[in-house]
Formats: sequence, structure tokens, C-alpha cells
Amino acid sequence: MENAASQLEQVRSRIEHAAQIAGRRDDEITLIAVSKTHPAEEILPLLAAGQRVFGENRVQEAQAKWPGLLERFPDTQLHLVGQLQSNKAADAVRMFDQIHALDRPGLVQALAKAMDQVGKKVPCFIQVNIGDEDQKGGCAIHDLPALIAVARDAEIPLSGLMCVPPVGIEPTPFFALLDKLARDHGLTELSMGMSSDYEIAVQLGATHIRVGTALFGARG
Ligand SMILES: *Cc1c(COP(=O)(O)O)cnc(C)c1O
Repeated sequence: MENAASQLEQVRSRIEHAAQIAGRRDDEITLIAVSKTHPAEEILPLLAAGQRVFGENRVQEAQAKWPGLLERFPDTQLHLVGQLQSNKAADAVRMFDQIHALDRPGLVQALAKAMDQVGKKVPCFIQVNIGDEDQKGGCAIHDLPALIAVARDAEIPLSGLMCVPPVGIEPTPFFALLDKLARDHGLTELSMGMSSDYEIAVQLGATHIRVGTALFGARG
């Protein structure tokens, strides 16, 4: 319990410091505590310490884990940070407050239909395959203008862009490129930065950072 609270305090103070260096206010930055794979009893201490924004990468896992926690902490926001299958779109819309991995026209259509059915608009980030990696999720950079147009046409509320840069190399150019792409398309929010690089992301304009390991420890 004390451990989780002190990890949270440490991450928060690092965000504050990185923001200060960049001349930003730390309240421009939303810390998403990525609780995937961690059970409710590991999430509770963070809720008790005041954290209210969490990320999960699987719809089913969130459905199993979160209803009880949300009952106790109803002002909590849940963000879906992982790949989403079109057939889970309606469940995702019901469960989540924001979706970070919109990456293809088929999913735009599924989400638009789901938002209509459920009667709830869920802001979405478009995930960009910023390092042009074969195995990675996200929309190719050259497909981005068309995907944004399709999403706007379908009246999906777009928050901004999201990326996961290639592992093991300097992330700075990728974060800078995501920022430029967002500006080029009039999008203001950037979901970028994880446990290993969130301070750099904050310095480069991240509005949402997705931090798991630095808060919860390693995933089993
Ligand atoms: C798991 C995950 C994170 C958190 O990663 P850490 O390195 O544990 O901070 C962030 N974003 C996405 C998309 C993830 O799947």
C-alpha cells in the first residue's frame, strides 16, 4: 500500500519536473496508470492514493476487474490502450471513457455504430505506427490523412494521436514526429510516453502518458 503510493508520488514529481523544464504546467498532462494484468487488490492502493485515470489493454479483463472498483470510486476514468477488435467495439464503448488505438477504417465504422447504439460518444486517439514497424499496430503514416478524414466523417470525436515508438532506440524523433503530425491535422492531444520514456514525452508535448511498470512493478 505504502509502496504504491510512494511510486505514484515519485512518478508525479518526475512529471512535474519534466514539465517545468519544458515550460509546461503539469496539469496539462494526464497520467494514465496502466493496470493491465494487475488484479483489483493491486489497483486499490493507487485509487486510495488519489489516482483516478487508469488504462487497460483488454476489454474482457476490464469488464471482469473494474465494475467493483468503479462502484467504490465512481469518478474513475478508464482508457483502453490496446488493440481493439471490431466485434468488441460496443463493449469497449460501454466500458471506457477514451480509446487510444483507433488504427483502421473498419474500426472507425464499428465504433461509430457502437457509439450510436450505446448512445455514448467516446473520444478516440488514432494510433500511428510511428517507426514504420512491420509487426506493430497503428495506422501507417501515409494512411493517416485518409483515416482522420474517415473518422471525422463518421463523427468520431478525435482527441489526438497515440504512438508506441520502436523499442531500444532513442524515442525523441518519434515523439517529435507525432507532435508534428498532430499539428498538421489540427489535433491537440498526444498520447505518448511509457515507463521508460515518459519524461522525454512530457518534454515533447505529451498530454497523456501511459505508465504501468513504474507504478505497479513488473508484470508477471
Ligand atoms: C502496457 C502498455 C503501456 C505501459 O507500459 P509500461 O512500460 O509498463 O509503462 C503503455 N501503453 C501501451 C499501449 C501498453 O500496452
